[in-house]
Amino acid sequence: SPPQPSSHAAAQVDLDAIRSNIALLADRASGAAVMGVVKADGYGHGMLPAARAMLAGGATWLGVAFVEEALQLRAAGIQVPTVAWILPPGADLATAITADIDLGVSDARVLDAVADAAGSVGRSARVHLKVDTGLTRGGVPADQWPAVVESAARAEATGRIHVVGVFSHFACADEPGHSSIDAQISAFHTALGVVEKAGLEPRVRHLANSAATLTRPETHFDLVRPGIASYGICPIPELTDTGLRPAMTLSSDLALVKPAPAGSGVSYGHRYITDRDTRVALVPLGYGDGVPRNATNRAEVAIAGDRFPIAGTVCMDQFMVDVGDAPVPEDGRVHLFGPGDAGEPTAQDWAGATGTIPYEIVTRISPRVPRVYI
Ligand code: PLP
Repeated sequence: SPPQPSSHAAAQVDLDAIRSNIALLADRASGAAVMGVVKADGYGHGMLPAARAMLAGGATWLGVAFVEEALQLRAAGIQVPTVAWILPPGADLATAITADIDLGVSDARVLDAVADAAGSVGRSARVHLKVDTGLTRGGVPADQWPAVVESAARAEATGRIHVVGVFSHFACADEPGHSSIDAQISAFHTALGVVEKAGLEPRVRHLANSAATLTRPETHFDLVRPGIASYGICPIPELTDTGLRPAMTLSSDLALVKPAPAGSGVSYGHRYITDRDTRVALVPLGYGDGVPRNATNRAEVAIAGDRFPIAGTVCMDQFMVDVGDAPVPEDGRVHLFGPGDAGEPTAQDWAGATGTIPYEIVTRISPRVPRVYI
């Protein structure tokens, strides 16, 4: 059974922020449709509430990695066009096709498997052909693209598939000016030319993630696929005035405040030694909750509007904060990250402090922490 969520901590999710972030992205999308990307439990925010907020904000498509995620959306009554784009050999394609889930086809094996599954359920599968324009991850490599497109055209002629879309994904869109961006755009145009020559007429061409949605209008085509920006986090930290609002705030009650004389070794390994008589507060969240262990001695938190450093090793269920002589009450609330309303750092700040990206900071918050929706 899943872990019981704690009562002392919460990942508060501001659904109106998600809704308005999507509306803002839709405004920036040059008339393209918007796909809300809700894989990985909506980047940790909760897939179903996030999806509903995105649809309220103007998204008309949803995107997930796996068929299971798409089926969860369908089970909740969400019927908008939904693409699942990672289809390992065991993926339940027949169920996906029956549930009207669009399938991202990344190689010849998947194309055959999708066509076979469609045949077995007597339906036409809605397919988005994915071309690898330079990410070298999923997607058909350029040299195999014409052959796969030809096979897709033949399968479409038999009625087993319908090529609804063609798409690709950027490697470095979060580094504006990176030379690979133009190279990928150009490769995408070439790939679209091959599709056209084969007589296919995909309605939905899509390339842009959040970063490209915000910075490269020429990548918007028919549909944009913003993930992280929908949750209010800009993938390009230097872009400061986007108007995006971070949706998640991670906070907890404190468990304890106590004196620590100068020279106290704090937490496992004594990686923090108090340099003066001070007080330490115990935050009952740890790596079991998804707080990165390498926030040890690095990240900061806010208590009553003031910032304090993490003191010593982040443990499984708890970490300590050096609060000095600040008037921190034993029953105080600590804010780890969020939009900053309580003086707390952002997920981007935590990512910077811990050597990762804000995507990981929000996505890794474990089911032990209840999501509270406002
Ligand atoms: N499209 C695809 C194919 C993806 O894999 C992802 C996420 O990794 C996205 C769009 C959304 O990307 P981002 O969260 O950077 O906007």
